Amino acid sequence: MAKRSVKAAVIGAGMSGLIAARELRREGHRVVVFEKGSEVGGTWVYDPRVESDPLGLDPGREVIHSSMYKSLRTNLPRPIMGFLDYPCDAKPGVWDDPRPFPGHKEVLRFLQGFAADSGVVELVRFGHEVVRVEQVAEGRNDEWVVEWRTRDGEASAEAFEAVVVCNGKYTEPRLAEFPGRSTWRGEQIHSHNYRIPEPYKDKIVVIIGNGPSGIDIAKDILHVAKEVHLASRETTKLEILEGLFQHSPINHAKEDGKIVFQDGSSIYADAIIHCSGYKYHFPFLRMNGIVNVEDNCVAPLYQHVFPPALAPWLSFIGVPYRTIAFVVSELQSRWVAKILSGKILLPSEEEMTSSVHEYYHRIEAAGWPKRHTHRLQLEKFDYENWLAGELGLTPLEKWRQNMYFTSVSLPMTLGENWRDTWDAEKWMKGEAGGEEESDKINCTSEC
Ligand code: FAD
Repeated sequence: MAKRSVKAAVIGAGMSGLIAARELRREGHRVVVFEKGSEVGGTWVYDPRVESDPLGLDPGREVIHSSMYKSLRTNLPRPIMGFLDYPCDAKPGVWDDPRPFPGHKEVLRFLQGFAADSGVVELVRFGHEVVRVEQVAEGRNDEWVVEWRTRDGEASAEAFEAVVVCNGKYTEPRLAEFPGRSTWRGEQIHSHNYRIPEPYKDKIVVIIGNGPSGIDIAKDILHVAKEVHLASRETTKLEILEGLFQHSPINHAKEDGKIVFQDGSSIYADAIIHCSGYKYHFPFLRMNGIVNVEDNCVAPLYQHVFPPALAPWLSFIGVPYRTIAFVVSELQSRWVAKILSGKILLPSEEEMTSSVHEYYHRIEAAGWPKRHTHRLQLEKFDYENWLAGELGLTPLEKWRQNMYFTSVSLPMTLGENWRDTWDAEKWMKGEAGGEEESDKINCTSEC
């Protein structure tokens, strides 16, 4: 079959958009990347500003894209923070954070380096926020209108054959709900708007959620706060730190500042930080019901990428979580690029649809709530290796898998400075286990 070259719009110049653009261009497609911000890097572009509504409930608020806090260091080690053919190796003088779990600035420098070295930065239209993506006419899946607005308010639109959505999934807060939440007198924010610990000086703070952000933020404010109380569905075996207490979820809150936990214990607190995850959000998609987000499940998506009825002309990169994000976005991007060029064939729409339903049944049978549809840990690395197989690549090296499983359980088992006390080399050489660690992972939120 002759190789097909299509005109493709990529929405977002974060990690997923950058790798998607590179793979699409490598495959001979004509690519435009729309980025609403003024630089590449997406969520790794730290922004000290916070939103006007700290819980993110006001739909009219100015949205700040990044959820990074000032002290953030990666929760995955450097060897699994890069792409398969462009590793995140420390480059003295260029990238200057030599730690195995570098700070957020280092990841940004890495992505900037990747965008420059791959030439992808030249494809990006900065300051272009996509406000509408719609089929030009019903039944014409390979004709899309992409409408954008620039910062000075100018609106314009252009036609594309394919649209690749890479707008990120950690911007729109998901809140923990409990009786009395809206009338509780203390201060409440979502972790999306957490930046620095100082506002919590001498305060009693409740953190909801024991995902990486919950645990990190708890430790971040522990140095200044009077007490930190971590409320979560599953109790993690955190090391004993002075001033840090663990609880079951909040049962209800009272106007006078009292918080009652499900186990009957209670405290008076000054602030609540919701580290309860995020919602998929595609405000620009006009889909006439073909793709929906319901209870945080983007549906229907074949292999978390293609809505069967619109494949391969509309695709989503970076939807899965609880995985090695960089590698998954890279494999997905290669797969999309090769399907668009006709080198790899998709099953029929009916076959894709029944595969999606079969996957939903498996999720249900495993007792997972719908909102965990895109969480990959049910089948350890089967998805990633399936993608690799489609692309004619060998399965991911065992050390990557072990390193991933081990590092996601580290915050729960090691001391306060766990990032500086583990030996990355050991994992690289395959001298350490890891898979068994996955059984310890019980976070209620993904970041
Ligand atoms: P993003 O980085 O969010 O990029 C999306 C881009 O799309 C942004 O640049 C945004 O401006 C742009 N955009 C959005 N809407 C529009 C629009 N309408 N028009 C135009 N542009 C638009 N991953 C790891 O591998 N290791 C870690 O240690 C790690 N730590 C994390 C810590 C935190 C606090 C968070 C929030 C995430 C973390 N992640 C980590 C996950 C991280 O999200 C991924 O590594 C990766 O950055 C996702 O990239 P992305 O391109 O999919 O999304």
